[in-house]
Amino acid sequence: TDDAESAEQTDGKNVEKKDDDDKEDKAAQSLLNKLIRNNLVGNTNQVEVLQRDPNSPLYSVKSFEELRLKPELLQGVYAMGFNRPSKIQENALPMMLAEPPQNLIAQSQSGTGKTAAFVLAMLSRVDPANRYPQCLCLSPTYELALQTGKVIEQMGQFSNIKLAYAVRGKKLERGHKIPEHIVIGTPGTVLDWCSKLRFIDPKKIKVFVLDEADVMIATQGHQDQSIRIQKMLPRDCQMLLFSATFEESVWRFAQKVVPEPNIIKLKREEETLDTIKQYYVMCNNRDDKFRALCNIYGSITIAQAMIFCHTRKTASWLAGELYKEGHQVAMLSGEMMVEQRAAVIDRFREGKEKVLVTTNVCARGIDVEQVSVVINFDLPVDKDGNPDNETYLHRIGRTGRFGKRGLAINMVDSKHNMEILQRIQQHFSKKIEHLDADDIDEIE
Ligand code: ADP
Repeated sequence: TDDAESAEQTDGKNVEKKDDDDKEDKAAQSLLNKLIRNNLVGNTNQVEVLQRDPNSPLYSVKSFEELRLKPELLQGVYAMGFNRPSKIQENALPMMLAEPPQNLIAQSQSGTGKTAAFVLAMLSRVDPANRYPQCLCLSPTYELALQTGKVIEQMGQFSNIKLAYAVRGKKLERGHKIPEHIVIGTPGTVLDWCSKLRFIDPKKIKVFVLDEADVMIATQGHQDQSIRIQKMLPRDCQMLLFSATFEESVWRFAQKVVPEPNIIKLKREEETLDTIKQYYVMCNNRDDKFRALCNIYGSITIAQAMIFCHTRKTASWLAGELYKEGHQVAMLSGEMMVEQRAAVIDRFREGKEKVLVTTNVCARGIDVEQVSVVINFDLPVDKDGNPDNETYLHRIGRTGRFGKRGLAINMVDSKHNMEILQRIQQHFSKKIEHLDADDIDEIE
């Protein structure tokens, strides 16, 4: 049905058919985030560090120079435009570069500098003179592996370090020995290359990275494959695991693949409704909602707005109507490729379009900071029709320090809707005020 908006396959035809929507959704989300992100995300929380040996001194660095990197690597870091380590890198980098090598499990939301950190660790441990794989990095999908690969290429541009991709569909001759220093790939292929095909000698691996552990474990088989790879590695191989979230299942997996770990966590900045003015508008039906929306547009100056619909059908209809009214509209929908979505979001962020119409699924996890008005054309509900408080918060909430004031308008067109709205209101203990769409003077 048109409600069932499934994220598209991120792995093209390579995706295992058994993979559930959840995995595809997570991997697509993660890729989308990478494609639209060009900066570190801000976070005012404290980094929590749990050292395996609590007696060893805790190092943190405020500059890349303090890390005593090889000059060509430092050059690579600066060429990427990094001036100083990110919050998580301040603690993670000294740990990852320490001698003897230490294991690490690190969790922080996407955009906080994890990838850059482990790429730096891998590059600094490679000896370019040795023409065999010394670092192994596991990614959940080919597309995600490619993104990490780009970072390796960029940061390693002044080092003579070569990279190979171990992904399905890549055919190598029997008996081939991989000469590249770093291999990045998906667990199934890497496992084959290390075991039955013997393209890689796992005993020579010095650094093992498991990226996006939370996305990884959502795929059938990835957990087992990762553990089987890990078991082939030498005892003194450095093991590093990264995850954006840390639910119990990720944690259990992390403990299995990373023995004697140091642990670093950076909590996500909490979103809040405190700086948001919330309203609801009573309507009779969909057309009425659209008229109300036009009234609102006619009455207040809206720099940029995001409008959320429940179904793809409603979203396209609404985008069409808004377009007819002369609005510059962009639309995100589930049948679009991740790259297409990223392009739409980019244009919107640049202000080329003023209205972004989207369905729930597509917009999950996207931060478009400059949006001052969020309109719930349909209220967020879960698949059982209950209020989806988390999505509501994420759509309209702002993080403490970075959040500007915002405006949220909810369209209600039935008794049932009104009940949902009331439950959302109760949940957050924040009043959602009534707004008369024919008399908008009330706001601002
Ligand atoms: P994560 O892996 O946690 O999602 P990334 O390492 O991809 O985070 O970093 C997010 C963005 O911030 C990327 O665009 C990256 O180039 C940039 N970045 C990473 N570290 C730094 C830094 N120390 N200074 C400036 N930008 C950085």
